[in-house]
Amino acid sequence: MAKETHAFQAETKQLLDLMIHSIYTNHEIFLRELISNASDAIDKVHYESLTNHDILEGDEDYEIFLVPDKDSHTLTISDNGIGMNKDELIENIGTIAKSGTKAFLEQLKKAKEENAAVDDKEMIGQFGVGFYSAFMVAEKVTIVTRKAGEQQAWRWESTADGSYTLEECEKEKRGTTITIQLGKEFYGDDAEENFTDTYKIEGLVKKYSDYVRYPIKMNFTWEETPKDKDGKPIEGAEKVQKSEVRTLNSMQPLWAKNKSEVKDEEYNEFFKQQFHEWEDPMEVFHTKAEGTVEYTALLAIPAKAPFNLYHTDYEPGLQLYSRHVFIMDKCKDLLPNYLGFMKGLVDSPDLSLNISRELLQQSRELKTIGRALEKNILKTLGKKLKNQREWYEKFWNEYGKSLKIGIYNSIYEGSDTVDKLKDLILFMSSKDEKLVTLKEYVERMPESQKKIYYATAKDKETIEHLPQLETLKDKGYEVLYLLDPVDEFCVETIREYEGKSFQSISRGDLDLDDAESQEVKKETEEIQKDNGDLLKDIKDVLGDKVAEVKVSARLKSSAVCLVADANGPSLSMEQTFQGMDNPMFKAKRILEINPHHQLFQRLQQLHEGGKDSQEFKDYCGLLYSQALLMEGMLPDNPVELAQKLAQLMAK
Ligand code: ADP
Repeated sequence: MAKETHAFQAETKQLLDLMIHSIYTNHEIFLRELISNASDAIDKVHYESLTNHDILEGDEDYEIFLVPDKDSHTLTISDNGIGMNKDELIENIGTIAKSGTKAFLEQLKKAKEENAAVDDKEMIGQFGVGFYSAFMVAEKVTIVTRKAGEQQAWRWESTADGSYTLEECEKEKRGTTITIQLGKEFYGDDAEENFTDTYKIEGLVKKYSDYVRYPIKMNFTWEETPKDKDGKPIEGAEKVQKSEVRTLNSMQPLWAKNKSEVKDEEYNEFFKQQFHEWEDPMEVFHTKAEGTVEYTALLAIPAKAPFNLYHTDYEPGLQLYSRHVFIMDKCKDLLPNYLGFMKGLVDSPDLSLNISRELLQQSRELKTIGRALEKNILKTLGKKLKNQREWYEKFWNEYGKSLKIGIYNSIYEGSDTVDKLKDLILFMSSKDEKLVTLKEYVERMPESQKKIYYATAKDKETIEHLPQLETLKDKGYEVLYLLDPVDEFCVETIREYEGKSFQSISRGDLDLDDAESQEVKKETEEIQKDNGDLLKDIKDVLGDKVAEVKVSARLKSSAVCLVADANGPSLSMEQTFQGMDNPMFKAKRILEINPHHQLFQRLQQLHEGGKDSQEFKDYCGLLYSQALLMEGMLPDNPVELAQKLAQLMAK
């Protein structure tokens, strides 16, 4: 039969044009796509052979063979899979039948209608488009294929100029051989990407197709000086050509094995190799599911949090595979952000290779898998917290912050995040200086205690010296130590736990409602009334620095403290915002003075001498500076403070 020329289906042509004219940078994925097709073709013939063994024609050694050829500038990919007959060649290769590819074109068209300036190159980069990706690197593609069980072989050829040719040919073995005549940027030692280089090809196979189920083989040749019988190179002897066929892929994905067959060391080694971990992971999750969506997941909590986990340059995400073929590296949308420290992969036959990464990430299948994984991880963490406290506290030290940020960000992560995480968070507490859960805290609250009290500071020592702490400690109330800036945002988001709201000891009213406290409160109010003028004048001296000056009900031995208004941000929140260059959030500062402290009487005395006296003003300034220092903040003018103090001491 003579050579026939066929025109590509219009859409196919459109896609080819896009391929060729895009300067899409990730050219190398074409190899992954072609190997994946070859592997599928072998799957098909194997499947057929189960009911019709003759179809194998005695050739049962499935393989994919790669031949990079430096001289002819070609790369050939052969398989002994199912092959194609003439109709199938026209149908499968000349037409776009696959929904993924179609969806791509539709989306492209839509994007173009909406926005004339849409960048094809960008869009195509997000899609894996199967066989056609060969044209990213090819000047000409030749397919020689013979369908298993049929005699006639076919040669298909195209330079992607809108048409392809078809002619009969001979092929001894069943299956498909695809020869790519490489474009000139893609061969030769000077090329940036040299696809005729065996080592480059080997690297790509390892990177993208290591776990393909069939051997991917390649012939390696090298020159060697002949050796004598002791294995020593013979001096002066002429080098000889050597060659050897090697299998490039490991084929057996660890995750495809049964859990019971895999040793701990194998898992550990796997995460070190595949995810560049230095230490053995803290915990490995290996799950297989066969529900609505079938998948295997192999995940780990690494031993150490990456140094940049909380920086914007950290890229979370799991690897995605479909039938052991690598699809993408950092799929962010599987797990919620607060589990961004998890490493690992998901392999699911229900994920399509030929769909954009964006569509893929939004796919129903992926969401289902993600939810199941999240549930499993949280369940394990819950169990560990209950039964392996030491393990959990180690985990907490590495990743606790992620969970707390997760709670704070629950508006983005899903409103049920708070419920999912609130029992997994730990705080340092005034009791025994141990980490406690909210549950433990609430369970051991004295009956008179109505709120969950917390204190914020940079470190434990600062909190322990906070004057406000005393009253609560004396009552036997436990106080949570919030030492990380995110902590207060986190508890503010939780709002309440088992009906108990959170109360900062440095904010608003402490709201103690036992009899003794009520009495103190009443008494304080009276003192407040009686000293109205004094308090007003202190406020006048301090000006904008404070919003209010009050008599304190929360102080025992200290003279003053600084608290924030209950409704605005707290002082430590203010500091956090300032640290983030966001001085918008100012706490409303309230200076509280202990009426039972000697200093209070001294103030009263000085006040009697007139509110404009320098001494009264100095005392007010010093009081405020003290209060700041106790909160771990620097006074506006430390030098002035030091001078005033020195003056006072010299008196
Ligand atoms: P997909 O692989 O998603 O189906 P492709 O464009 O890569 O999309 O391939 C289109 C079709 O061509 C495949 O579905 C398959 O039927 C056929 N095909 C491609 N490569 C081979 C091959 N090596 N052997 C047999 N059939 C193939």
